Amino acid sequence: MPTDIKSLTRAELEAQFTAWSLPGYRVKQVMDWLYVQRVTSFAAMSNLPKELRERLARDYALQTLTLVRKQGSRDTTQKFLWRLADHSLIESVLIPANPSLYGATSDRHTLCLSTQVGCAYGCKFCASGLRGWKRNLHAHEMVEQVLGVERFCAGATGTAPVAVPAAGPEAAAPAVLTPRNPARAFPADRVVDNIVVMGMGEPFANYDQLMQALRLLNSPWGGRIGARKITVSTSGLAPQIRRFADEPEQFSLAVSLHGATDAVRGQIMPVNRKYPLKELVAALEYYQMKRGRQITFEYILIAGINDGREQVGPLAALARRLHAKVNLIPYNTVEGLAWRRPSDAVCEQFLRSLKAQKVVCTLRREKGHDIDAACGQLRLKTEREAEAALS
Ligand code: SAH
Ligand code: SF4
Repeated sequence: MPTDIKSLTRAELEAQFTAWSLPGYRVKQVMDWLYVQRVTSFAAMSNLPKELRERLARDYALQTLTLVRKQGSRDTTQKFLWRLADHSLIESVLIPANPSLYGATSDRHTLCLSTQVGCAYGCKFCASGLRGWKRNLHAHEMVEQVLGVERFCAGATGTAPVAVPAAGPEAAAPAVLTPRNPARAFPADRVVDNIVVMGMGEPFANYDQLMQALRLLNSPWGGRIGARKITVSTSGLAPQIRRFADEPEQFSLAVSLHGATDAVRGQIMPVNRKYPLKELVAALEYYQMKRGRQITFEYILIAGINDGREQVGPLAALARRLHAKVNLIPYNTVEGLAWRRPSDAVCEQFLRSLKAQKVVCTLRREKGHDIDAACGQLRLKTEREAEAALS
């Protein structure tokens, strides 16, 4: 299979076009077709000469994701289950900026991306790891999750079709950009303006493809999403946290902590054996020193496991030491796993105790979490249904 064109940066494509003796504005045209118009074939790039379209189709792939299942409705959290070219299933979750309280709509969203098919890290509470790791996603498969969701939303809201840029050098001017925020130059029907890499998979176990995808999504000629609006969540891979700290872009970092002592964390996250808290904290201190950016600790509250008073002190100490904020997330039950979420009263008490220790923290309180449950569950359900149908 040839390289997918959505895995290439502008500089990489420019090098190829220069080798083909093509003028520079052709690269801009192709980038507009891919990231502004979001076309799904080279044939649709109507302002390119026919020979160039044919040459591109011969030398590059242009894959799209196939939507196999969707849960949730517009203005609420929506889950997309995609099939990849090799028939693997992955999920993306679209979360409205302001959940539709009182019937209000919101036009900006956060998209939660997957980075692997399955996950090798086997956290005991997580649906993504239940069937192990199958493969890493390529950069274009991460980029395409954003483009696919936006194509879907444009179709669903009737904002498509978009204008076609003129042929020739004058087409170097940006096409179909919204006047709403000229500095950011979003396409008019843009919906995703925040990315959290918190879907299926451990992003730092697929480091190079992840960084390539984030650069494509962040660049002014590609996804145009601000670096600070892109957050990567890791289960705590210390060497990659250090590498991430050395990157030039200001991407944000979240760490799945879920336990503030090795005893508790080690019980639910096998990765803690490889990188115990001492090592994780040292890597996070390096990140802090290099970046001075606030880290987020994610802390799922699981009944009887990590929701007791004895975790509050060590968690507060870690958060204060690293100037981290803490997001408390009541556990979403996973079919087939025995873990449960604590009562609302226990969650509220945990929050109050942390706040009393001067920690910046929030508690996710939305109801109806059945569909916005953590990534990996829709895939698991779909695979189990398919197996049941065959047996
Ligand atoms: N592998 C990365 C990113 C993907 S998981 C990581 O672990 O950080 C994204 C987040 O969802 C993590 O914080 C993870 O612990 C959490 N999560 C997994 N299963 C969950 C569940 N059933 N309920 C609530 N959060 C869950
Ligand atoms: Fe993998 Fe993250 Fe799930 Fe752990 S929580 S199994 S690292 S996806």
